[in-house]
Amino acid sequence: MPVAGRAVMNPKTLERWDKRYVWHPFTQQREWNRAKPVIIERGEGNYLIDVNGRRYLDGVSSLWCNVHGHRVPAIDRAVRRQLGKIAHTTFLGLSHVPAIELAKRLVDIAPRGLTKVFYSDSGSAAVEVAIKMAFQYWVMKNGRVGATRRVAPTFIKLKNAYHGDTLGSVSVGGIKLFHDIFHPLMFKTFMADAPYRYRDDFEGSESEYAGYCADKVERILKRHHRRIAALIVEPLMQGAAGMLVQPKGYLSRLRALTKKYGVLLIADEVATGFGRTGRMFACEHERVTPDFLCLGKGITGGYLPLSATLTTKRVYDAFLGEYADFKAFFHGHTYSANPLACAAANASLDLFKKNRVIKKLQPKIKLLSEELGQIASLAPVGDIRQKGFMAGIELVGGKRPAHRVCAEAIRRGVWLRPLGNVVVLMPPLSITMDELRFLCQTVRDAIIR
Ligand code: PMP
Repeated sequence: MPVAGRAVMNPKTLERWDKRYVWHPFTQQREWNRAKPVIIERGEGNYLIDVNGRRYLDGVSSLWCNVHGHRVPAIDRAVRRQLGKIAHTTFLGLSHVPAIELAKRLVDIAPRGLTKVFYSDSGSAAVEVAIKMAFQYWVMKNGRVGATRRVAPTFIKLKNAYHGDTLGSVSVGGIKLFHDIFHPLMFKTFMADAPYRYRDDFEGSESEYAGYCADKVERILKRHHRRIAALIVEPLMQGAAGMLVQPKGYLSRLRALTKKYGVLLIADEVATGFGRTGRMFACEHERVTPDFLCLGKGITGGYLPLSATLTTKRVYDAFLGEYADFKAFFHGHTYSANPLACAAANASLDLFKKNRVIKKLQPKIKLLSEELGQIASLAPVGDIRQKGFMAGIELVGGKRPAHRVCAEAIRRGVWLRPLGNVVVLMPPLSITMDELRFLCQTVRDAIIR
């Protein structure tokens, strides 16, 4: 049977083969196998186009990573140009042009003080790297006179946190549904309550709420800081938990606390990075420099798998020594810093500048707020949360669950994927005002249908 050409492009064959051979992530396959899958053939701007020619506005940026749309000529060209040179070479014991250029550019745009870039190939891996670096940092410090930490430092994580699906990142996760079953495989951590204003019984101002939530973290720090390597947080917004926005001042309080108790701070900006919150990085909103900044998803404009963990000179220097000291960071992936991915990332950063993406995003964020305001009064809507271009509509009552609303939106030409009972809106930053209105109108119609 021919494997290339139109013969295998028959939608019915593809559907049969998908159901016979493929296992999809985060998917109950029995349900999947009962339904008709949307099979994408290509993209165009902010739209996905399936094998039957149907168009869907990409309402969740192909799982939160697309930035400038699909088939962006400048990124396509950059990847092709790199293909003309080399598709892949290792980063272990070799270096290459696009990764060096990208590292310099990431340091230039990152919060001040983050001066070293360690590449991997997924958001989960970027978090694993931060965890392992923080751990090794303290273990090596312990070897020194005057060490204050015990041999096996651990971490503070937040309730409802999501940092990826590998076991290290699962260990610092706090979503029962995803993580509880793997409990016996996880390393020990301390879990602190996290902000969730809608479900929290708290009366007071936003700033008082930030203090109240930070106090919960401080209680753990006060008692256990000598055993803690780092605190890990998704700054400003816990995404996978259902778009839970943190009160203003919470992140900067966490930074102040970690400094006070001599604990490292890991900011996981895999979801919030690259413009999502209305600034290049969420940490900028509160002028915070973490000790580790984890980047992924939008780093390549949503084109290719790449991630990076940025850290400080202080951490980097702790790993310096002679070969025989065995202080090197023994971690790396086959495809770390893949050149095609780095070329896409460089082209994406060019576009941020050339198209003044962050500036042009501001009126779109405003429009999204206005449109969400119209949705807020609908009966099944319990809460609406937004930070920049990340938004969640929490439905209540159970009559029209989020997965039904999303299925209806898909029928109406908007691709969405819910989180529990939360309808997520996370369009590409390149979405036009008209497309944004269409997205919100469709969600509104799908809710009240
Ligand atoms: N951290 C955060 C905050 C995320 O939202 C995600 C993915 N949704 C990850 C880490 C994991 O990234 P990846 O899926 O690329 O491993």
